[in-house]
Amino acid sequence: MDTTTKSKAETIKEKSLKYNLQSWSKQGGLNPIAVEKAEGIYYWDYDGNRYADMSSQLVNLNLGHGNREIIEAVKEQAETYCFMGPSFAVESRATLAEMVINLLPDNFGKVFFTNAGADANENAIKMARMFTGRKKIFSRYRSYHGSTFGAGNLTGEPRRYPLEPGIPGFVKFFDPYIYREPIKFESEEAAAAYYVAKLREQICYEGPDSVAAIVLETITGSNGVIIPPTGYLKGVRKICDDYGIVLICDEVMAGFGRTGTMFAFEHFGIKPDIVTFAKGITCGYVPLGGAAVSKEIAAYFDDHFLSCGLTYSGHPLACAAGVACVNYYSEHQILNHVNEVGKVLGEELEAIKAKHACVGDARYIGLFAAIELVKDKATREPIVSYGGDPKGVMGKIVGLLKQKKFMTYSHENMILICPPLIITEEQLKEEMAKMDAVLDIVDKEML
Ligand code: PLP
Repeated sequence: MDTTTKSKAETIKEKSLKYNLQSWSKQGGLNPIAVEKAEGIYYWDYDGNRYADMSSQLVNLNLGHGNREIIEAVKEQAETYCFMGPSFAVESRATLAEMVINLLPDNFGKVFFTNAGADANENAIKMARMFTGRKKIFSRYRSYHGSTFGAGNLTGEPRRYPLEPGIPGFVKFFDPYIYREPIKFESEEAAAAYYVAKLREQICYEGPDSVAAIVLETITGSNGVIIPPTGYLKGVRKICDDYGIVLICDEVMAGFGRTGTMFAFEHFGIKPDIVTFAKGITCGYVPLGGAAVSKEIAAYFDDHFLSCGLTYSGHPLACAAGVACVNYYSEHQILNHVNEVGKVLGEELEAIKAKHACVGDARYIGLFAAIELVKDKATREPIVSYGGDPKGVMGKIVGLLKQKKFMTYSHENMILICPPLIITEEQLKEEMAKMDAVLDIVDKEML
């Protein structure tokens, strides 16, 4: 590497630190990697170091870096025209909406496109409120739905706090987080029945006629890949049916193949009323999100004013990227691949859990996984307490992984493992060996 290249990396880094505010961080002491190039599951810094993208950036880069089909589709759209406002009929926008509806169950009718996940949720709850004429919105504590005001109020975890006291009528309930539940259930069904009964009771006390929507991440993502027990979502669906409440599944992170089905709710035999999506629909090549609504909700807006709008709703470049992504998922049988490689990931994680004293739980479905680090397997005491890690233990562990060029992020006491869906078995094994080595250090030095 010559000095000119080196100085370019340093310049970019310095400028970035001087002018960019970085998300979810104290701004002092940051040390971003200046990225020179990226391909497949890897990216490289200007010193030629290769990093494995084991979180698919922010669990959005499902098809990895440098996908030629997506790049060419965006180029072609840019050559045709880059932008036409949402009121125009645009080929990529109409085609992508049709493709999304065809991927969803037969009760789905239309799509409202947004820029990303947060505004997908914002618009979903607005539509649910207009459709039902009700105001209250239920969502869960261990959830992340975005950082804008409405989506931030749906969010239950600490990233909600700066928005407090929050929007009146936004009610939180507890998720079926069995690993940390003091009650020990006989079966998944028994656990599901318990949580559903508690939710029904809470809805009754809030007044069912005032509840517009229940919003949930079908499988909780950044809060630790919490997979609902068998029967839970069917129970929530029944509550919604009994009281005329709109069921909104936030599939921003879990959707588009991450769990081995196109949408995560397919694992649980339910049909939501609204599905929000973002991330994997364009894999970050151009930002895009959306809320797909049922035929019934779509029909309601035939003669009721849809009070939603964004300058960039269904941006043609983003929709062109989306069409290319959705085509790629089917033409390259990505779901089959996720299920095959996901099986290997599951085996690796079970082995890691059995071997390491610090691994309390490993949860995985498809290529969506998290390990939960504990001080003591028997008591399940987390390695860092909820909402607090004053000694920066999790940062150190993620730092050890980074030294080995295994790149991911943590949340509370959990580490996410969500590689691009195109990862090969060989690549996965190479990276999981690095995780194993880091957990050896945690076992020996950090408990
Ligand atoms: N919903 C879920 C489940 C998410 O994981 C995220 C982001 O991580 C969002 C919504 C917000 O999406 P965005 O950051 O694109 O606004």
